[in-house]
Amino acid sequence: MSDFDYDLIVIGAGSGGVRAARIAASHGAKVAIAEEFRVGGTCVIRGCVPKKLYVMASRFADDFEDARGFGWQVGETRFDWPTLVAAKEKEITRLSGLYEQTLGNAKVELIRARATIAGPNAVHFSDGRTARARYILVATGGAPVLAPHVPGLEWGLSSNEIFDLPTFPQRLLIVGAGYIAVEFASIFTRLGSQVALAYRADLPLRGFDDDLRSRVAEALTGAGVIHHPGALPTRIDKSAGGYKATMSDGETREVDALLIATGRRPLTQSLGLERAGVATRENGAIIVDAQSRTNVPSIYAVGDVTDRINLTPVAIREGHAFADSVFGNAPTTVNYDCVASAVFTTPELGTVGMTEAAAMKDFPALDIYETSFRPMRATLSGRAERVYMKLVVDGASQRVLGAHIFGPEAGEMAQLVAIPMRMGATKQDFDATMAVHPTAAEELVTMR
Ligand code: NDP
Repeated sequence: MSDFDYDLIVIGAGSGGVRAARIAASHGAKVAIAEEFRVGGTCVIRGCVPKKLYVMASRFADDFEDARGFGWQVGETRFDWPTLVAAKEKEITRLSGLYEQTLGNAKVELIRARATIAGPNAVHFSDGRTARARYILVATGGAPVLAPHVPGLEWGLSSNEIFDLPTFPQRLLIVGAGYIAVEFASIFTRLGSQVALAYRADLPLRGFDDDLRSRVAEALTGAGVIHHPGALPTRIDKSAGGYKATMSDGETREVDALLIATGRRPLTQSLGLERAGVATRENGAIIVDAQSRTNVPSIYAVGDVTDRINLTPVAIREGHAFADSVFGNAPTTVNYDCVASAVFTTPELGTVGMTEAAAMKDFPALDIYETSFRPMRATLSGRAERVYMKLVVDGASQRVLGAHIFGPEAGEMAQLVAIPMRMGATKQDFDATMAVHPTAAEELVTMR
């Protein structure tokens, strides 16, 4: 150790940082991890986990309705927002505690302070201490970006605050149409809000396969969401009952709350990166190589702060690979092929690999397989809902390049279909797989 207080100081106890700290410690390193807020990071505290709990809460609305078609007589139902918020809080407190316990068991020292970089091997803590480390890992994640910059934007909430609104918003305007915007539109409309969605594109979820985008838009409309495609607020004013948003399409909306979901940026401001000479991109993202190493050999970065693929499992892999490479004598790089992802609207969307539009650019001939069908549950519930699946196949090699699913449990299906796709499966491999009947997923192996 000699010169150093620690082998590793991790800044940020989110998914990537906690994994890196724990694995580095298991390789024998003396590790400290600094966290200014709660252990767990965006995913556990104000992201994936509470979001999925709210998605589950919202889906009961459909369950109560659908149950009637199966012979149930459902009495009056009523949703209580404070109960959900409190239950969510209890669960994330439990999870945050588990994360802390894991760190403690691994003998990682938790420093509850804001940390800033004081040099290539030095970290300053807001409790006044400065420590020296052989390596520093920056895993500070990201933060919401609020746009567009119009008068009154300060009345808008980010996804950080929406979870804990003191009163349920009966009328909600959501700006943006990425993951966060559409997931919250789907949640709040089912919990009983009148939701409007304003976005600058013609369809939500830019970057996803166009056939899924149009279906998500239709499903949101079907659930009661009002769309303002190609329109954004031009000003927001406080009004008697809440806020008045004036829109670029000429409409005005009176709402109780505004959720601004216009993307996230890497959290590198005031981190002291310049004191060590760490290079960043224009948007603040830390530039790293395949080993997550910055231009300063003693400083590494993983997760959203590097703006590679901003998903929790990716950050965890990057943190693990860093720890194995630097402390485990096992140089490891993360493979970013076929990263599956899900958007938890209702119905949800699961996707792996290339969209049809992207594949058209790289492959001279494609075979596209599509299916659209009524899910079995809808036959008795009467719900107007259809599942949609698309396989994008390379015409020459018959390799499956993309799988795009819209329907119940699409996220679960995307996870499993990612395995054969990563292994290079062809359409014939899919077809040779026996179906599980009756399921929706069986369509993936029976498409003609
Ligand atoms: P996204 O990048 O997904 O979407 C941002 C949205 O904001 C887009 O609709 C974009 O429009 C719009 N936008 C961006 N800048 C402006 C601007 N200046 N004015 C108006 N509109 C603007 O970001 P999110 O905030 O939804 O999510 C952040 C990240 O969090 C995601 O990228 C994802 O990695 C992660 N996440 C993952 C989830 C999951 O896996 N289920 C769930 C939630 C978040 P346009 O399309 O026109 O650019």
